[in-house]
Amino acid sequence: MQDATLIVKDTTLVTMDRDLRILQDHALVVQGNTIVAIGPSAEILAAYNSPTVIDGRDRFVFPGFINTHTHLFQNALKGLGRDKTLFDWLDSSVRKALREIRHTDVYNAAVAGCLENIRSGVTTVLDYMYAHASEAGLDDAVVAAFEQTGIRGILGRAHTKTDGFPEAARCPINETEDMFYADVDRLRERLKGHARISLALAPGIVWDMDPDGYRRLRQYADQHGLRITMHLDETAEDDAYTRAQYGINTAELLDQTGVLGEDFIGAHLVHLDATTLEIFGRRRIKCSHNPVANLILASGVAPVPTLRGMDLDVGLGTDGAASNDTQNMIEVIKLAALVHKGFHLDPTILNAVEVVKMATIEGARVVGREADLGSLEVGKLADFFLFNPRNVACVPVADPITCLVYSGNPTCVETVVIHGAVVLQDGVFRTTDEAQAVDALQESAYKLRQRVGLGNEINGRPVVVEPFAARA
Ligand SMILES: [Zn+2]
Repeated sequence: MQDATLIVKDTTLVTMDRDLRILQDHALVVQGNTIVAIGPSAEILAAYNSPTVIDGRDRFVFPGFINTHTHLFQNALKGLGRDKTLFDWLDSSVRKALREIRHTDVYNAAVAGCLENIRSGVTTVLDYMYAHASEAGLDDAVVAAFEQTGIRGILGRAHTKTDGFPEAARCPINETEDMFYADVDRLRERLKGHARISLALAPGIVWDMDPDGYRRLRQYADQHGLRITMHLDETAEDDAYTRAQYGINTAELLDQTGVLGEDFIGAHLVHLDATTLEIFGRRRIKCSHNPVANLILASGVAPVPTLRGMDLDVGLGTDGAASNDTQNMIEVIKLAALVHKGFHLDPTILNAVEVVKMATIEGARVVGREADLGSLEVGKLADFFLFNPRNVACVPVADPITCLVYSGNPTCVETVVIHGAVVLQDGVFRTTDEAQAVDALQESAYKLRQRVGLGNEINGRPVVVEPFAARA
């Protein structure tokens, strides 16, 4: 008998491997952080011993989802982005909050955001952290939340030019590019060799850097082997800006600087003309599709079938909770399966299997981790979750993928394993006091709204929801 740290037995494995095999009455063996064996349950149990055996009967095991675009700090600003377009929303809430948001606010927001990601099956999150205008070191609060909750985190360290913000949103710190690189150097050092947390570069929107800035960014990314992610063509404003400034569209400008490439993840990609599509195809960029946020902000429907038809990898993202207003990846998956059908009047255009690919193996390719994430295969990292379909939302169940995409919800996500560790067990977090995290965010977000002067009105009258009462 061989020793193992964890076995899931008597279960159905939705592998998302090359042949999309669904293996029934199987078991999966974890040693340390790695999947070391997959096979029929009886054979596995005859060959492996483990102190931790999870009974996976009547459960489906899926590879953990990869959330390719979010802003965890925005969990402090949930509920404020109602009925506004992107730039109205930014100016009226997010940009104003940037000057007031503190380490505790970011930490509480990011912890709750990570827990919500995990509850919807996400095991890897690419966080695009762009709050740097109030005090130094706020990225450390996101790293602390990754560490606390046990999620696999990629910190996209952003650079936003805050000195151009409207008067009402002026910030105490206006970061220069030199300040940005100094902090990226610091974070690289801090995260060097970290088992679960890595770093990426994240210029904000096209006007946050000039062409020389993008050339420097490409050089830095190549020198240190970092991926680049960027908001790109979410609205028509990107191209309007570069046409006014440089006489060409955004993709042409970025192409000329050399910043685009296989390690470049464009987030949103909604407003794309033929020239832009040709450049993305030639540069083989990676894509992040965020349908919930695109619909909340009325940005439009990204041409995902076209991008995937060009053989580009498209992952899914929740985007931040200020424009979502959740981190519910299962909802994103369902909406991705629906919106293109309705938009193109074609029910076959993006089916359930394809959207689950986008959330798993294709998402892994987007973040450059297809060698060790995105499918249930021997040798890959042990990032997966058990989905329980034995509830009124799911029954009767015809197949695991259709069930997940069209009938599933986060309460079906029962147990989540990340890097070989059980993070959520039978619906209860083993890493973090969830009730405490909920109350802490309600209180700090309330105080943040008070400091910034943010709040909602219903029928012309302000409505304020205060911190929750102490629990018994
Ligand atoms: Zn975003």
